[in-house]
Amino acid sequence: MGRQVNLFATLDQAAARFGDRGAVYRGEEQLHTWAELRERALRLASSLRRAHSPGQRIAIASENRAEIVELFYAVWAAECVVVPVNFKLHPREMVQILEDSGAATVFASPKIATELTPLSPVNVELIGGPDYGQMFAAPPATVPSTDPSTLAWLFYTSGTTGRSKGAMLSHRSLTAMTVAHLADIDSPDENCSLLHAAPMSHGSGLYIAPYVLRGARQVVAASGVFDPDEFLDLCAAHPGSSAFLAPTMIQRLVDTGRDAPAALRMIVYGGGPMYVDGLKKAMAAFGPIFAQIYGQGESPMTITGLRRADHDSTDDAILGSVGYARSGVEVAVLCEDGSHADPGQIGEITCRGDVVMSGYWNNPDATRETLRDGWLYTGDMGSFDSSGYLTLRDRSKDVVISGGSNIYPREVEEALLEHPDVAEACVVGAPDPEWGEVVVAFIVGSAAGEVLDAHLLDRIARFKRPKRYLFVDDLPKNSYGKVLKRELRARLG
Ligand code: AMP
Repeated sequence: MGRQVNLFATLDQAAARFGDRGAVYRGEEQLHTWAELRERALRLASSLRRAHSPGQRIAIASENRAEIVELFYAVWAAECVVVPVNFKLHPREMVQILEDSGAATVFASPKIATELTPLSPVNVELIGGPDYGQMFAAPPATVPSTDPSTLAWLFYTSGTTGRSKGAMLSHRSLTAMTVAHLADIDSPDENCSLLHAAPMSHGSGLYIAPYVLRGARQVVAASGVFDPDEFLDLCAAHPGSSAFLAPTMIQRLVDTGRDAPAALRMIVYGGGPMYVDGLKKAMAAFGPIFAQIYGQGESPMTITGLRRADHDSTDDAILGSVGYARSGVEVAVLCEDGSHADPGQIGEITCRGDVVMSGYWNNPDATRETLRDGWLYTGDMGSFDSSGYLTLRDRSKDVVISGGSNIYPREVEEALLEHPDVAEACVVGAPDPEWGEVVVAFIVGSAAGEVLDAHLLDRIARFKRPKRYLFVDDLPKNSYGKVLKRELRARLG
């Protein structure tokens, strides 16, 4: 038998060390201590075990709710695989995930269950319902000893470039992620709190294990969604808060005009580009509390990171970077011929380490394309500087090739956003008979095209300037808040 580890060990340790302290909170209300949470998860695990065998998939479709924490740990203790489903998806998209994963059961919140139940191919258990309550009558399961390669989580990607795929994350991968988070990004203790602001099915859910291991409170907003005012109030009500926020959520916090509560210790951001201008405004409003992660479902929240101290830099190139390789992860930028890129040279970002997924669920073709010789090909383009700071350009599919030159939309977007009358900007390529593609900018804001052109002439090379500016009320975004470039491209024909 090899070495054994189950993510349940993180809760075991918190319960042993901090048994009587508060563990799970709904808003300001304490629901369970660490000892109670452990016991609830083990009782739920033995109920799950009656109807499921190890390795079966158990889905969760819910807005953020306190029960999600006990459900994750119960599924792991039962040696089943958790399949969190983004609650903002259309019920038909949820059904696709249930079918693709072959889930045996889906735990759904009352809000989601109403729409999902008539379509669901599998049994729907109502979170918080009478049957759910009954599950805690079972005797606690014993804590399992699990082979680290056992699957723990099927992480359905956001599917901005196609249909959502299930990245297979093992106990080993999520343990590596946990350790790397504590080593590189944040070091909470039992006097700290994790506020779940982003969806627990994805961004925020990944943070549960590291904060549980250190005994930091798990706080779920009573509304179940991200409301900037509710979030700031909760930060003031709990000690030493940290939260993971997507860049658009940070913008909404800044827009409240409120000061950061003293107890707000750290905001970790990532999952999409944080433009330098927006980052500086956020730091001016809330102080030096930011850290950045760059990851993807296939290497959960762990490829590179820009630590809090790095944010003191006055160098925009550092602030615009995604930092350097995370502990336990090797990162390489490869040219098209497979050779390593020199500093400053752009290529595809690849990485390897225990944190990387074992493949895509039931999709050997996609797995072969993405995992090669032990390396994860991220599909993101980027370049290292000579000190190992990685700057992310764009997803390879988003690079615009105009007259044979590569133009990276992010650079143009960064420059556009420096104009005070530009609220949002998104740059894509439009087919063009003469140039192959031309740069087109979609703008939310009031600055005229000529004004933006003059603004860009001071900042970037001429050939990178958009040939057209299209003014829109808002940018199309998916349910993760990511801009849908393919939809914008489709508008251009
Ligand atoms: P997902 O798998 O849905 O988390 O999407 C991962 C993708 O989001 C990555 O491949 C990147 O393209 C993008 N992404 C993640 N973190 C960052 C970051 N810190 N800055 C810019 N883009 C990011």
